[in-house]
Amino acid sequence: MASALGTPAPTQAATAPSTKAATAAVSWSGLMYRSLTREATAAAMRTTYAGQKAAISTWTAEAAAATKAGTAAQSTLTAAVTAETNARLRHAAARKALVAAKTNLSTAGKLKPRSATAVTKATNAVTAATKTVTTRKLQYQRYAAALTLARAEVKTAAARLTKATAAVSFTTAAAAKTRAAYVALPAAAALATQAGTLSRDVVAQIRPAFKAATDTTQVYSVTVNKTVAFAFKRMVDDAQADGVQISGGGFRTTQRQIELRTINGCPDVWTAPASSCRVPTAIPGRSLHEIGLAVDISSAGRTISSKTPAFKWLTVHAKEYGFVNLPAEAWHWSITGG
Ligand SMILES: [Zn+2]
Repeated sequence: MASALGTPAPTQAATAPSTKAATAAVSWSGLMYRSLTREATAAAMRTTYAGQKAAISTWTAEAAAATKAGTAAQSTLTAAVTAETNARLRHAAARKALVAAKTNLSTAGKLKPRSATAVTKATNAVTAATKTVTTRKLQYQRYAAALTLARAEVKTAAARLTKATAAVSFTTAAAAKTRAAYVALPAAAALATQAGTLSRDVVAQIRPAFKAATDTTQVYSVTVNKTVAFAFKRMVDDAQADGVQISGGGFRTTQRQIELRTINGCPDVWTAPASSCRVPTAIPGRSLHEIGLAVDISSAGRTISSKTPAFKWLTVHAKEYGFVNLPAEAWHWSITGG
């Protein structure tokens, strides 16, 4: 489920088929992808880190504001508790006074001889006491409501502080993680070098199961093994950006290799060493061209020599893309140099 929803691994963009045998090829592609996207990855991490630092500041300020609000709410609550207690006591006292006034009225009503003045006075006292009870009840209810509100405010401020504190912790941990990952990010050259150490294994693993139809792809007009497609495209693009146009011939069939052995004047097709041909040509079945891992570079329509700007550019930069020159052939670049 997670893999269906998640971002596909970058190496899937340009790798050999994921057979068990092609693990070196997958690693090579992955390392070269990481090498060639290293600066973009680092820039993205810097942006992420800056965002996390800003979030820490925001949440720290929020925690301080919540603390301040909590202190204010707490002092409001303290005052509200006192006010509610006083109002409750005053309400109770008024009810007690009303009971006493009613007792007085009852007593006055039973007086013999009956005193109209005393009854009127006691009746007025009951009316006044009733009014006081009503007033104090309303006051008490108001202070009780204020107390409820003050308690709620303390709770709200506490929840706000808890949330802000947790966010500070969370973003601080996330920023530390980003920083650690940034510091640990390998250098592009180190990743390319690591890929280079796998290149012979890549060849050994790819050759036995190679199928041109599924294992190669076109990069501009050059057919190459999918393993090197991303790196090769970046090499062409970056050379172009430096004013150097490169193209060439990548994959060729074994049939074409056999033909070239004849065309290039090799003493025989199957056994004479490549160096014995007029133009060095590998024995069929041994050329990296036959698995799309070598490219004969041309520039402006001509096969390059060691004197061309393209060769000079490649001499400086090709290793950044995992390509190595075969010294005997200025034009022949592959992942092993073979
Ligand atoms: Zn070649």
